Amino acid sequence: MSKENDKQFVTEITPQGEDFSRWYIDVIKKADLMDYAPVRGCIVFKPDGFEIWEHIKDELDRRFRETGHRNAYFPMFIPESFFQKEKEHVEGFNPELPWVTEAGGEKLEERLAIRPTSETIIGHMYSKWIQSYRDLPVLINQWANVVRWEKRTLPFLRTSEFLWQEGHTAHETEEEAREETMKMLQIYREVVEEYLAIPVIVGQKTKSEKFAGAVDTYSIEAMMKDGRAVQAGTSHYMGTNFAKAFEIQYLSRNNVLELAYTTSWGVSTRLIGALIMVHGDDRGLVLPPKVAPTQVVMIPIGPPKTRDAVVGRADELFAELKQAGIRVKMDDRSDVRPGWKFNEYEMRGVPIRLEIGPRDMENGVCVLVSRITGEKKVVEQANLVEEIQTMLTQVQADMLQRARTFMSDNFYSVDTLDEMKELMENKRGFTLAGWCGSEACEDKVREVTGATSRNIPFQPAEEKHTCLACGEEAKHTVVFARAY
Ligand code: AMP
Repeated sequence: MSKENDKQFVTEITPQGEDFSRWYIDVIKKADLMDYAPVRGCIVFKPDGFEIWEHIKDELDRRFRETGHRNAYFPMFIPESFFQKEKEHVEGFNPELPWVTEAGGEKLEERLAIRPTSETIIGHMYSKWIQSYRDLPVLINQWANVVRWEKRTLPFLRTSEFLWQEGHTAHETEEEAREETMKMLQIYREVVEEYLAIPVIVGQKTKSEKFAGAVDTYSIEAMMKDGRAVQAGTSHYMGTNFAKAFEIQYLSRNNVLELAYTTSWGVSTRLIGALIMVHGDDRGLVLPPKVAPTQVVMIPIGPPKTRDAVVGRADELFAELKQAGIRVKMDDRSDVRPGWKFNEYEMRGVPIRLEIGPRDMENGVCVLVSRITGEKKVVEQANLVEEIQTMLTQVQADMLQRARTFMSDNFYSVDTLDEMKELMENKRGFTLAGWCGSEACEDKVREVTGATSRNIPFQPAEEKHTCLACGEEAKHTVVFARAY
């Protein structure tokens, strides 16, 4: 079979222990979450993949509104001259920008970039909208697609075009802008932990890893099952850098012209990739109930002569569950064996399977099976809604606990480069180490171990006192890991 066909028709899922990257691709293809697009690095989000994003989006959006933000939409084309205004920003993003040079059959006077992020165009608009302290704060979020021409791509985790939200706010004072930066980081942590059941390390990025143009960047970092890190979200404090570049000025309470303090923060469809790599197993996807497109699959079982009666009762239960707001799917196909269906929905990561057969019907019970533990529970049909709600809550909590245990089991404290190198080569995982603050030492860590600094955690398990690379006094305690 050619490589291309190989990608299209996944029959068996490669075990994680054999080849984790291969496992990942097999799972997302077999579970029908995405397909490759004809353009390099771009993917199609198929309905199940897209619905996971929609659940993440709904919850984030709810929390953004709750904290006073509103959605708006800015154009995807950004004039080239805008990028020249903030020096670090242009240097950081230039290599990844796609340009529109011609349109309507004519060469454009000024090239247009397709947005990689929208600080520049939004800064331009804010400078018009903000005149006085009375216009502040501006708290706007945008749901959009952005394009970054990445060298290495991987479905969901790093694509050339991706979907995300980008919050952009402007404030009177540094204090208020810093508070906003932290507030949004906290919302990311909560949604990623409570919805995706992914524990994260919250902290500050080192200078070399911060966003191009930011004063400070903060991130949440998650550990995948192969021990590698994924930066799951970022929140940036821009100080007055973008306000200077785009003249976002306001007349202060003291009647003086002041620069506004701005922030930006974003999470993307990368979260879908993280979700798969944190929870999936050799049988396929494992989805946390809160974002699973299907939370419960109902499978009527039993010999053909009992079929109609069983399906009839199953239909009634189905209606009850749906009515209660549970995302339930019924698979009553008669030409497919139950065992085949069990495997299919396990592979798709459906949190609960509900089996109902003729004897269960007589006894007024049915069987619930948990995807993550395989545990079977016989429950009264009369209490079905509550039983399922309880089980969904339990599964959600168990998944977070399981992922937390995995993260702490694969979290190491190291003092030397040799120790870190050995860990990266043999075990993988996150390492906590001291760092003197010099870029040279950070580079050395990368060269020798392949690990990069992930962040300086706000709450490290311990404080380190010497730099792992040069042995001088440590300024920071840093999490290093190989990353996607
Ligand atoms: P940034 O604007 O660089 O801080 O990116 C915001 C968030 O978008 C990051 O924290 C990532 O989670 C995500 N992200 C960045 N680049 C990509 C990409 N190529 N594909 C998917 N997600 C991305």
